[in-house]
Amino acid sequence: MRRCSWVLFALITSVVSSAHGQAAPYDVVIANGRVMDPETNLDAVRFIGIRAGKIAAISATPLNGKTTIDAKGLVVAPGFIDLHAHGQDDENYRVFALDGVTTALEREVGTADVPGFYASREGKALINYGASSSHVRARMVVMRDPSQGLLPTGPGGHQVATDAQIAEIDRLIDAGLAAGGLGVGMGLQYTPAASKYEVLEAFRVAAKYHAPVFVHVRGFAAQDPGSSVESFMEVIAAAAISGAPLHIVHLNSMSLASTPKTLAIVKDARAHGLDVTTEAYPYIAGMTEIGSALLDQYADGPDSNFSKIMLVSTGERLTRATFTAARKSGGMVILFLNTPEMEAMAITSPLTMIASDGSLHNGKGHPRTAGTEARTLSHYVRETKQLTLMDALRKMTLMPAQRLEKLAPVFLNKGRIKVGADADITVFDPATVKDRSTYQQPALSSVGFRYVLVNGVPVVMNGVIKDNTFPGKGQKATH
Ligand SMILES: [Zn+2]
Repeated sequence: MRRCSWVLFALITSVVSSAHGQAAPYDVVIANGRVMDPETNLDAVRFIGIRAGKIAAISATPLNGKTTIDAKGLVVAPGFIDLHAHGQDDENYRVFALDGVTTALEREVGTADVPGFYASREGKALINYGASSSHVRARMVVMRDPSQGLLPTGPGGHQVATDAQIAEIDRLIDAGLAAGGLGVGMGLQYTPAASKYEVLEAFRVAAKYHAPVFVHVRGFAAQDPGSSVESFMEVIAAAAISGAPLHIVHLNSMSLASTPKTLAIVKDARAHGLDVTTEAYPYIAGMTEIGSALLDQYADGPDSNFSKIMLVSTGERLTRATFTAARKSGGMVILFLNTPEMEAMAITSPLTMIASDGSLHNGKGHPRTAGTEARTLSHYVRETKQLTLMDALRKMTLMPAQRLEKLAPVFLNKGRIKVGADADITVFDPATVKDRSTYQQPALSSVGFRYVLVNGVPVVMNGVIKDNTFPGKGQKATH
């Protein structure tokens, strides 16, 4: 048979066989799982075919894959997106992945060196990553703050900026946004000397790029000045005047007993057309640097206040004397300031996304880093039924993606199970998913996340991290 007729014959047979459903096998097939997609409310058993890092098929009938993951009895959800992840190294990416997170973003503080942040992680990251352009860090640069930590301890937090210094801070923020930074990071409680005018000017830079400003607001006192209500109103005013989208971080820890009031403020601002979003983490305690401005007035309070503070390095509760000493030597502290009732109100509100505020360092830190997603699914969904599974997933996937997709269209393909989406997928057992991390053992990873895929590559298989696997990509804004 002449050569050309062979070619023709081969062509016909492949067309015939593909017509009969024998297409080239997918790279990976996730079979028989309960697929849940918050955007379409799909909640049914399906087969997912993955090719070249993307979801290529969602089928009610079996698909042929080079690798097949049996997800029978498991939930197959979009990969979780954590908008508030300070931990941006391998130690943190591993516990995030074991908690179902496929994209971890440093939004609140961000970085003063956007190109450097992305370049230093390229090809070396287990999960997707990203950072905002930082007001806090730009201020530390311009004011020459001596702090070696993430947050200012000197003029970066406590010195009022001249108009020329404000212009220099804004020039740095602008450069970070132009380089693809995912919004502006702002921590007003850590930079108390930042005037209302300085804040507004930074919002105006963000507005130029339609970039959200991610803000740790100025205070969480019950009464003015420095109250939660006053602090929320400050940034909402800046958003309204500048036109910049606004995301208020950890509403829970910045509201405490005022949670009903701050939720109502966000709700009303949205009802009147302002682009304001917010988030929460499911723990009554927060964590911060003991040398930071957040604790400046703490020593003015009664002795009873000090036992609410735990020193991360030793696990001890502080006294006035040990607090004063630790303020000088530095380090992380955990503040037990909120109540389970207010935590639950923040987590179950339809306004809040789930975001961990997580960071571990050599196994030390806050249990929220390793356990935020699993605690939401185990405590709030399974054990107390305060949230439906679909609503919880929406807070961990679609809502964070929607928060960023205008600025960074890459997020149009995240937070969803749809054909064409990035194959960032989290497969877990809703009956056994559980956080294990505690304030004493914060690095204990969650259980129940059986398979986690990043850009179509499994990074967790049978609940175990796959070593030497770095499919994570830097997520940037495009202008
Ligand atoms: Zn914060």
